[in-house]
Amino acid sequence: ETTGTRGVEAVIADDRAHVFHSWSAQDRISPLPIAGGEGSWFWDYDGKRYLDFSSQLVNLNLGYQHPALVAAIQEQAERLCMVQPAFANDVRGEAARLIAERAPGSLDHVFFTNGGAEANENAVRMARLHTGRHKVLSTYRSYHGATAGSIALTGDPRRWASEPSIPGAVHFWGPYPYRSAFHATSEAEEGARALQHLADTIMVEGPSTIAAIVLETVVGTNGVLVPPPGYLAGVRELCDRHGILLVADEVMAGFGRCGEWFAVDRWGVTPDLITFAKGVNSGYVPLGGVLISEPVFDTFRERAYPGGLTYSGHPLACAAAVASIGVMADGVLDHVRTMGAEVIGPGLAELAERHPSVGDVRGLGVFWAVELVRDRATREPLVPFNAAGADAEPMTRFAAACKERGLWPFVHFNRTHVAPPCTTSRDELLEGLAILDAALDVADEYYTG
Ligand code: PLP
Repeated sequence: ETTGTRGVEAVIADDRAHVFHSWSAQDRISPLPIAGGEGSWFWDYDGKRYLDFSSQLVNLNLGYQHPALVAAIQEQAERLCMVQPAFANDVRGEAARLIAERAPGSLDHVFFTNGGAEANENAVRMARLHTGRHKVLSTYRSYHGATAGSIALTGDPRRWASEPSIPGAVHFWGPYPYRSAFHATSEAEEGARALQHLADTIMVEGPSTIAAIVLETVVGTNGVLVPPPGYLAGVRELCDRHGILLVADEVMAGFGRCGEWFAVDRWGVTPDLITFAKGVNSGYVPLGGVLISEPVFDTFRERAYPGGLTYSGHPLACAAAVASIGVMADGVLDHVRTMGAEVIGPGLAELAERHPSVGDVRGLGVFWAVELVRDRATREPLVPFNAAGADAEPMTRFAAACKERGLWPFVHFNRTHVAPPCTTSRDELLEGLAILDAALDVADEYYTG
């Protein structure tokens, strides 16, 4: 009996008996057993195939079982599986160089972690030591990870149960034109007022107490919130004026999702630190990291950096990153931009015309949100904020309608996101959009406007 050939009953039995699942009431879940995957598809033990519009957790940017990544991991496994971070290692250095070469400005050094939360955790540590200040500002409607510091930065309900969190975490409102916190009536007004709100927040918190502003370049799970033109440049300017570090969390937005190596490239803004994970190697082996600019690096030339991880720069993970960057450089970023502009964007706009429950469509690259409402005039969300159980039923039924038809959707609150692998073909995207079209009939049933 080996893994993969075991019966589905045994897979379910072991899972239910021994696997403790994230973010879940353990008796209220029934995880779907997955037998395999290839490209943009995975399948269960009945052979039912799903087109993955969620890229697992928006991390599988090169899809399932990409042969170049599998081969790189196999070759590295035969050569050297593990060497601890204090040694120099060929593939770790190569991964760091390839990442740094693609980063803007003087972001030339990489501190590797195992994932996004640890990356943000270390970015905050670096910012505090570099500035000698302790506060960190981040936005409501954000997710930065589930470790103590990263969950403190997080601006969504996942933080609530971890409070009281670390001292010095302060939240402010970022731009969100469809549900403006600033009564803005245009994108430009939203951007300008959001900047004024941030300037005021800095003023009353005390600029000399603030080490960093941490932002998702494009807010991910909390709604694919694309910053209005000028917003990121304005935040950069505020940071420069007050000696505050700008940390761009590109864990979800980076490495292809937005059609760029780094989403900040889209707006020509250079942060002091960039955190990344997920798409850097599609998570075939866990990897994340912090890209460090020259001035922050200088702080740790003669002074030891007080942080480390046993698996920092794991050779198997770095080998997967090297292979992944090679594949992405070979036309994938162009493909993402084209699919976003020619297929997904226009396709979702068409769905909005046909389905009254579609209140807003926004995004770029292979990173889109469809926001569902009960009434377009009031913008009342299809389900309440943080809805669960019976309250979430309209979205649960919508998701079930997608799954029945062979599409695995990403659903969060009253939104469905379109976040397929970067390599998904035009035909596959059209197939997925047609399934969304059919499933949106379920959402329309709740429309009261
Ligand atoms: N930052 C962002 C923007 C994310 O989307 C996530 C995960 O979804 C994280 C950080 C946390 O990453 P990880 O789960 O690898 O710790």
